[in-house]
Amino acid sequence: MERSVAAGRRPIQRLDPTTIERIAAGEVVERPASVVKELLENALDAGASAITVRLANGGLDRIEVADNGGGIPPDELELAVERHATSKIAPEGPIELGTTLGFRGEALAAIATVARFTLTSRAAERDAAESIRVDGGTRGARSLAGRAPGTTVEVRDLFYNTPARRKFLRSPAAEQVEIARTVERVYLAHPSVAVELIADGQRLGTYPAAPELADAASRVLGPEFRRGSFRVEGPVPGGRVEGYLGRPALAASSSRSLYLAVNGRAIEARAIQQSVRAAFGDYLPRARFPIGVLHLELGSADVDANVHPTKREVRFARPSEIAEAVRLRVRAGLVAGPQVAELSDAVLAPRSATLPASRSLPPSGDSEAGAVAGSASGRARFQQQTLAGRPPESASPSVAGVRGHPRLVLYGCLQSLYWIAEGDEGLVLVDQHAASERVLFEGLRKDRPVTRQSLVAPVPLRLTGAQEATLAAHGADLHRAGFEVAPFGPGVQAVRTVPSFGGRRAQPGAVVELLDELAAGGRPTQPDGLVERTAASLACHAAIRAGDSVPPAEFARVLDALYALAEPAYSCPHGRPILLQIPRSRLDRWFLRSGP
Ligand code: ADP
Ligand code: MG
Repeated sequence: MERSVAAGRRPIQRLDPTTIERIAAGEVVERPASVVKELLENALDAGASAITVRLANGGLDRIEVADNGGGIPPDELELAVERHATSKIAPEGPIELGTTLGFRGEALAAIATVARFTLTSRAAERDAAESIRVDGGTRGARSLAGRAPGTTVEVRDLFYNTPARRKFLRSPAAEQVEIARTVERVYLAHPSVAVELIADGQRLGTYPAAPELADAASRVLGPEFRRGSFRVEGPVPGGRVEGYLGRPALAASSSRSLYLAVNGRAIEARAIQQSVRAAFGDYLPRARFPIGVLHLELGSADVDANVHPTKREVRFARPSEIAEAVRLRVRAGLVAGPQVAELSDAVLAPRSATLPASRSLPPSGDSEAGAVAGSASGRARFQQQTLAGRPPESASPSVAGVRGHPRLVLYGCLQSLYWIAEGDEGLVLVDQHAASERVLFEGLRKDRPVTRQSLVAPVPLRLTGAQEATLAAHGADLHRAGFEVAPFGPGVQAVRTVPSFGGRRAQPGAVVELLDELAAGGRPTQPDGLVERTAASLACHAAIRAGDSVPPAEFARVLDALYALAEPAYSCPHGRPILLQIPRSRLDRWFLRSGP
């Protein structure tokens, strides 16, 4: 296409007011969900205690938001739909985030510019409602209407006069999802108001007024959230933070289920999201994100909500201090709670659905070691370390319950990997590698060397040039991790010591893998510092491994060390769980047992 400046250039001209209005409207109204958000916020500002949102065709055909708030006096209806007209701040300013969610005076005007719009309102002291229509920015007729006190805004055919915008909308189903999410965001920022969402005549969501934030949160995030969450609260610079976050086992694959609000306004704030994620640190694997709700209450000097037409983002006066304070408060709440992952219904459901109707039972009367699953192939090998005719309580290694950790009595070990123990509430499984790794990681991070043991005969290793270079750089790190490696001959190194735990030794061969991993920068971990990455690599290779057969006394030693950590350890350095609990009550449900 010819785009010659001389041929194609227009002279500079002023845009006409309609075009200006439409461009401005586009900044406020991006999609149906933005209409819903603005109308909900207006209803909240009007002091509504109940709001109903009705949709047709994902909001593309129709959106209606009705509230029982204070209403608009009839002589102000025209002004309400005019741009830059508001009842929320004085005309001359000052502009600050006070007690209202809006004050730019743009939303109704913008929506009315790009849709067929009707505003019906009855102020509390009047006996009738009045209605005003605006079609694509053109004011229409007024009429009287019957209505209880409050306001209804109806928005039909969004973007009918701006086809370019309409083309950018997604499917009605996708727009509806976005609206539902918006309703939940606003509700979680303002849980004292009841909201109802009705789509194409069907009730899609009911959000009752919740006296407690915890109730609202579990309404949106599910009943699992109530049991699996912890409270966050405390001062931040200029105000307070308060809320509930899910324990690591509830983490999600995106940050979408972390709901943030500032002074009752649902916001997006990457810095705060990141500090919440950072507080979970190595409690979560890399691509998992905390879920929950956090409310910040800040003084008007500490936050500016006037920076964005959609008011989605706010600006903090002291952003890094607030983010850091949030991180500390979240961390404190996280480490204060119980530290065992619980097997959730969500985990159980798909499994139990695949179980065959009749499970093969061990031959009756056969209670010998190895008979639990009874297969010669050793498919479900069960090391009978403590059962041999003794009651477990008297003879089995046990660990005392401290600071949220359960008291445990060891029964045995499954597949040389999972320790099986009885806890206060039921069955507890411990990943022997993850537990041992965590203990070593914390020790190495604090520069506590791993106990080592000399090999009777040094084990020679032939290293590549890169591995030699890594050894030269990381020899001291390896040494701290229990591996002493020294030159043995031309081009050959020898492993002289290995980490040892209660009589068990690591494999010298781990050194080669470890060198490769350190050459690649260590193992990713959270927090992601070099010291942590190195410590995570060292710990992983020095730790008890899957398949190692571990003496029962070692179980108690590792668990005692785990429980003694300053911060209770929920997961290994890469975020996999260490302890998993299946409560007696769940076992009962599983076996269709009603009573004890
Ligand atoms: P803003 O909310 O920024 O003031 P809007 O265009 O959203 O601008 O609304 C303009 C004015 O209309 C508001 O200041 C308020 O006085 C009035 N208004 C809008 N919606 C409602 C409602 N649901 N109930 C009562 N008054 C409303
Ligand atoms: Mg508004």
